[in-house]
Amino acid sequence: RLFRANEPLGSARPCTLVSQPPLLEALVQAAQRQPNFEWIPGTAVKDLLWQSDRAASQTDNRVTGVHLADDRTITADLVIGADGRASAIRQKAGLTLETEPKSIDVLWFKLPAPPGYAADNRFCTVVKQGRVFSLFHGAEEGKMHLAWAISPDEPTEQKDWATTFAALVPPELVEHFHSAKDSISSPMRLSVLIGRCPRWHRPGLLLLGDAAHPMSPVRAQGINMALRDAIAAANHLIPVFKTANPSTPDPTALDRALAYIQAEREPEIIQAQTLQAHEASRGELLRRFGLLRQGLSTFSPILGPVVKQIWTQQQRPLREGLTTVRLNAD
Ligand SMILES: Cc1cc2nc3c(=O)[nH]c(=O)nc-3n(C[C@H](O)[C@H](O)[C@H](O)COP(=O)(O)OP(=O)(O)OC[C@H]3O[C@@H](n4cnc5c(N)ncnc54)[C@H](O)[C@@H]3O)c2cc1C
Repeated sequence: RLFRANEPLGSARPCTLVSQPPLLEALVQAAQRQPNFEWIPGTAVKDLLWQSDRAASQTDNRVTGVHLADDRTITADLVIGADGRASAIRQKAGLTLETEPKSIDVLWFKLPAPPGYAADNRFCTVVKQGRVFSLFHGAEEGKMHLAWAISPDEPTEQKDWATTFAALVPPELVEHFHSAKDSISSPMRLSVLIGRCPRWHRPGLLLLGDAAHPMSPVRAQGINMALRDAIAAANHLIPVFKTANPSTPDPTALDRALAYIQAEREPEIIQAQTLQAHEASRGELLRRFGLLRQGLSTFSPILGPVVKQIWTQQQRPLREGLTTVRLNAD
């Protein structure tokens, strides 16, 4: 092992692994306490409604709502597209996404957690024999997750994954992978897309989260960034809606707020994506150059503490962002 770093890595609070489904459920429950919130699960947005029949390419044409897959329509002063990296809303709005060249996809596996891990929140990255993968424990009770990086043109193989993993994992986990052989889930392929929209908004519409800037999985910052986008958006939008008279906000003030939201969030997104790319390229160097891996491994007692210090310092701006993001409006 090159190094082991313990949370909170110099931050005020430790990073915690959280399972996504309960997090989303908790967010929906909190939103449902608002009197005008309606949760419509399982019904996708199919198209946008426009002020005039002209095409989306007309930059002054205002978005006035959405058309749902069940043929209902919802009109709105503002549509927020937070529909992820393949955003249909982004495409329908004619907002372009500039993407990085695609370098990896991820195969996701689950298996029973090793004995003795119950109270531990662990994240371990392994670079060995030309492979890079990460092991996580703590996001889902009783389970260990494994994220296996593959090149986009590599097929999703159904093979004896237990033996493959057992040959690569740290020594203390080898026996566990052999004994969990029949309990390792089939791989789920996750497509990685990284990029940014030069423009996150148009009249009556705003993109947030991955819809505006699909994030790399490196160091798990995508959800943080999406939540910080939402807080910044609330800070700018709530005052516009509160001063609306009688209840319809001034379209000019609303569209101005959309530009402020992008201006506030974009520098942090650029920084996070740059740091993620930097970390990914170091992983790629290690993966490709066996001699480098061997050198680091041989001299790990001397090099490990130095690499740990540099790595730990670089985590801070990635985990904590550029600025403090706090909900001001109420
Ligand atoms: C392999 C991989 C692993 C990752 N691991 C992590 C991690 O561990 N931690 C982390 O922080 N980030 C991780 N990320 C990044 C993270 O997934 C995203 O950055 C984050 O989920 C973005 O949140 P979002 O709300 O913008 O989009 P999403 O989480 O993608 O949510 C979009 C939502 O919109 C819904 N939707 C889609 N289309 C429509 C439509 N037409 N109408 C209505 N609804 C629609 C979807 O069902 C979904 O619920 C990972 C990314 C990848 C690719």
